Amino acid sequence: MNIRALYRLFTSEGIPEPLSSAKYILSFAAQNRHKIKRGEAEKPGYDNDTDVTDDKVKRVYKMIWKRLERQPMQYILGEWQWGNIELFVKKPVFIPRPETEDLVNLSIDKIRNSFPAKEVTGLDLCCGSGAIGISLLKNISNLQQITSIDMSNQACELTTLNSEKNNVSSKMTVLQARIDELPGILKRKYDFIVTNPPYVPDIDMEYIEDEVAIYEDPIALRGGHDGLNVIRKIIEVAPKFLKESGLIFMEMDSSHYKYIPNLLKDLNSPLTHISNEKDRFGLYRFSIFTLKD
Ligand code: GLN
Repeated sequence: MNIRALYRLFTSEGIPEPLSSAKYILSFAAQNRHKIKRGEAEKPGYDNDTDVTDDKVKRVYKMIWKRLERQPMQYILGEWQWGNIELFVKKPVFIPRPETEDLVNLSIDKIRNSFPAKEVTGLDLCCGSGAIGISLLKNISNLQQITSIDMSNQACELTTLNSEKNNVSSKMTVLQARIDELPGILKRKYDFIVTNPPYVPDIDMEYIEDEVAIYEDPIALRGGHDGLNVIRKIIEVAPKFLKESGLIFMEMDSSHYKYIPNLLKDLNSPLTHISNEKDRFGLYRFSIFTLKD
């Protein structure tokens, strides 16, 4: 089958990322889904055409059809390379985004520096596919345990599956709960809390692309009028589970960092804001907090 032809079809139908979509589908069809890495699929050029054996043709057409219906490539493949791990991805659980790899790298650095010798434990709030907690467990040797929490049962199931896939399930506890239920459930304190909560402001929800709007759970995205609904809840609840000199790493919308000082004041929060950090696109996407002295 011809990559260029499939690329042209996707282009003429207005499908985003037409070239990498064509390459992913045809490399999957060559019976080796790991053959093409993210970097390779996303670079220009057509490479070689792919032989599709008769028994695969139906499968390939199905995948092409799903892409024409704007299904995200990640859901079509069912597995996705993210940072330096492989994850199962499953409709409608939120697909981990590239910029969240930056949250992970930032957290790895700060956790290693802040808690060098001791046995560290953490909380991952709104864990989705489990991407953040799994990456931290794989990259921080003194991290003993992570509790990953999501209100969605499908997200919790996927996180469990991914923790097994990545051999960290013995260090991960997965809990289905809403943020406001946590005070009745969690009994201990953690060295750090990491979170990529739903934070998209209502107005921006109107402009998201079809891949997201049709296929991903809107609850994993929607942050309400100003995008801060869940962030406010986390800021209220999280200090209860944070050890003295513990750290909170939070992803947010790039419009949010300037509201944080007032938000802490309005909520009379015991937290203090340490810094804002940029993502790979140069946007202030992450904030770090700790408890006041
Ligand atoms: N940055 C994500 C997006 O635009 C939203 C992430 C989130 O709500 N946690 O899809």
